[in-house]
Parts: sequence; C-alpha cells; structure tokens
Amino acid sequence: MMNGSNQYALALHGGAGAKLGEDYTIVEAHLSKLTAIGEDMLREGVSAVNVVEKMVSELELSGLYVAGKGSAPNRAGQVELDASIMDGATRQAGAVAVIKDVQSPISVARAVMDHSPSVMLAGDGANAFAAEQGLAAVDDPASYYVLPLGVSKDDVSVRDMYHGTVGAVALDIDGNLAAATSTGGVFGKPEGRVGDTPIIGVGTWADQDIAISCTGTGEYFIRSGGALMIANRFKLAGDTLEEAVWNMLEDVGALGGDGGAIAVSKTGEIAMLFNSDGMKRASISSASPAVSTTFTPCR
Ligand code: ASP
Repeated sequence: MMNGSNQYALALHGGAGAKLGEDYTIVEAHLSKLTAIGEDMLREGVSAVNVVEKMVSELELSGLYVAGKGSAPNRAGQVELDASIMDGATRQAGAVAVIKDVQSPISVARAVMDHSPSVMLAGDGANAFAAEQGLAAVDDPASYYVLPLGVSKDDVSVRDMYHGTVGAVALDIDGNLAAATSTGGVFGKPEGRVGDTPIIGVGTWADQDIAISCTGTGEYFIRSGGALMIANRFKLAGDTLEEAVWNMLEDVGALGGDGGAIAVSKTGEIAMLFNSDGMKRASISSASPAVSTTFTPCR
C-alpha cells in the first residue's frame, strides 16, 4: 500500500527515567545520529518494522540506556530483559520476557514474530528459542550498567524512581506503521518481574492507523491500558494524537505512576509526551526537521 506522498516519520525514545541534573549530551547526540540513520532507511524504502527493529537494536547495543547492554540488574544481581515488536501492516507481533544474556532482546522478539507460532516467550523458553535461532549472547550484561548519580548499589528502595527503556515508532513510505520497545526494567526489581514493555497492547502497539511505544513505571501502564488505550482513544474516542497520549498518561499519573510515550499516526503526525521529569527522545519526518530533546516540557 503506497501512501501516495512518500511521507515517512520516525520517533525514538531512550526512556522516561531521565533525571534533572544528569548530563545527557552523549545520549542526545546518539539519538540524533540514529534518527538520521533511520531517516535514510525510510527514504530508501525500508519497511517500518525493519527500521524500528534496527533502531531498537542499536539503542540496546549502545550501552547508553536501560535496555540490552545497559540494563539494570534485579535484586539478585541478574539482568532480566523484556522486549516486544509489532508490525501494523499485518498485526503480527513478537515479544520476550525475563530473557537473560542475549545481545539483542528485540531481535529475539522479532524472531518470535517471524519464526514461531507464539506471540510471547518468557524465561528459559525464550533463551532456548534465542539459542535455536542462533541469536548472539553476551557474558555478564550487568557489568555494563551505570548506576544513576548518587544511588548506591544496595539501595533497592528507589526501584520506582530509576528506570529506562528504549523504543521506536515509524511510518514508512508505503504507509505502514510499526513499533518496538526494549527494557531492562526498573532498578532493583524482584526476580521474574515483568513490566509493560513486552506486553503487546501495553508497552507496544501498531496497527494500520497508529504505532506506539511506552516507557515508565510499567505496573501503572499495565493498569492504565497503555498503548492500546492510546490507540482506542485516537481511533474510537475522537482524541487528537496528543490528547490520546496525554489522557493515558494522566491516568497513569492519577494511579501514582509516571512515564511517557511516543506515537506516530498514518498521516505522519508524531507525539512524544511524558509526565516524568524528562524523556530522552528524538524524531524526524518528511514534514518536519529533526528534533532531539530530553527535558524540554512537552505540553
Ligand atoms: N516500562 C519499563 C518497565 O516497567 C521501565 C521504563 O520504561 O523505564 O519495565
């Protein structure tokens, strides 16, 4: 399906756990560089689903975010990872939860989508599947994690305060949308804890009208309906894209959580909103020049 105008749009986030007072210069430069790479891919006609997978795998590999290599260990000192991807054109989806020691959880989620009859694999089964698919492993991923400034390794009481995730949403020049999200979860999480990120319809959603990736305290996003709530508000309740995202975030806030979401519509409109201190984020589209910001108020 051509959208007739060669429109494209791409938005990335590096998590809504950004804290005032930290220096995100390197992260912002990285996000800007990645959006430029993503834009080239979209201009060349690469599909939205391939672009979001590439963007998220680069974010995971960079070690700059709480996803893939930069992930926070749980209370047992292990890194347990969650990721999901959805192709709006086909509504095929793949997800992994509580997977360990893989280089790119999003690529395992993509393989679940492409090469298994399941939508989600968790724990040992997800690791066995990744090995079967020949997907790369890493040794000791916890060694890459950089504690936030002023936080001690033993301080698990801040689990709701320090978190991060990465995500991407895209519209390709054929008019197709896709979304992908990957996380190491929240700092000091208990073993086996699963947040919103790998849950299709909560952390990630894409259909023919909208693509969404969420970040924040996952428990509250699950209780607020997350990404599918945004999609339904946009498609069925008459909210604008920004209203749909903001209304879901307000509900997260009312329950006691915080975070943000990025969304793109089939017309190439982008929303990147958060009710936390900041959200590492960047976007680019055929209609507007690149934007890359962390703390600039969003609304
Ligand atoms: N949503 C993620 C989780 O709860 C964390 C985050 O986005 O910062 O696992």
